[in-house]
Amino acid sequence: MNDKKTEICISISSSPGTFGETVHNAGYKYHKLNYLYKAIKAKKIDKVISSIHTLDIKGCSVSMPFKEKIIKHLDKVDKLAKDTGAVNTVLKDQNLLIGYNTYVYGAYRAIKSLKVKKSNDVLILGAGGVARAIIVALKKIGIKNITIANRDLKRAKRICKSFKCNVIKWENRNLIKRDILINATSIGMKNNRLPIRKESIINFSKVMDVIVSLKDTPIIKEAKKQKIRNVSGLVMTFFQASSQYKIYTNKELPISIMLSAYNKKNKINIRLS
Ligand code: NDP
Repeated sequence: MNDKKTEICISISSSPGTFGETVHNAGYKYHKLNYLYKAIKAKKIDKVISSIHTLDIKGCSVSMPFKEKIIKHLDKVDKLAKDTGAVNTVLKDQNLLIGYNTYVYGAYRAIKSLKVKKSNDVLILGAGGVARAIIVALKKIGIKNITIANRDLKRAKRICKSFKCNVIKWENRNLIKRDILINATSIGMKNNRLPIRKESIINFSKVMDVIVSLKDTPIIKEAKKQKIRNVSGLVMTFFQASSQYKIYTNKELPISIMLSAYNKKNKINIRLS
């Protein structure tokens, strides 16, 4: 009989999905690890924290609306999470709770896949938590010329002050030319809308979306139609999950293992190129 303790990892969210369970559990099977990953609907962060301790949870993936609220409950916060001001991954290491932000790594790999240059300039649409992680990733790559457009101008100004970026009014996003366009808003997630005018997409030579979807999002569909180099939100999410997996298990999980589990679960055949 195998009496080795099962390590439990969870994800907490106000509306849990199946992505984490699918890819992490596929990894545990691949590495033959005595681990289990479970997505949980949570309402109160303090209850989650006490459960991590009492149930001896190894790792916790954090989604909306807890990514900022959780910070004050942690013993240590990694530098990238500090830089972004948000934590999406918590590791319990000898009773200490340590917070990480793996979106930065996910964004870094997605941006790199566009074959960007340090001299490229960028327009980011959105000024939320993901936009912050993207700015940190761009700076790690060495891209400095970053412009933000956000519906709420005050929020855009706040982020630009912290990260020394430029800000433009939301209405002007359709008028400017940049090398890279990054959609870091939730536009296109639950609707078929573009975050920018169709005719303006040609003002960019590379397009990245953060929205995770089983099919091409409106902006990716349009970039493909206009033959503009593009990367979907799936690439960011697979790489951020691989980084999370490494934090929980100390092992490297090939993206191909996650992708095949994801395709099987959703009865699709997506390829990440
Ligand atoms: P936040 O809630 O922090 O920010 C949402 C952003 O979207 C804000 O800039 C907001 O603008 C903007 N927005 C929302 N609706 C509209 C609208 N109708 N018109 C214009 N702007 C709008 O969310 P996050 O930054 O955490 O997440 C952003 C997106 O990234 C989500 O869709 C999420 O699913 C996705 N995501 C992808 C990940 C990946 O790995 N690929 C990881 C995590 C999230 P305003 O400030 O004006 O409200």
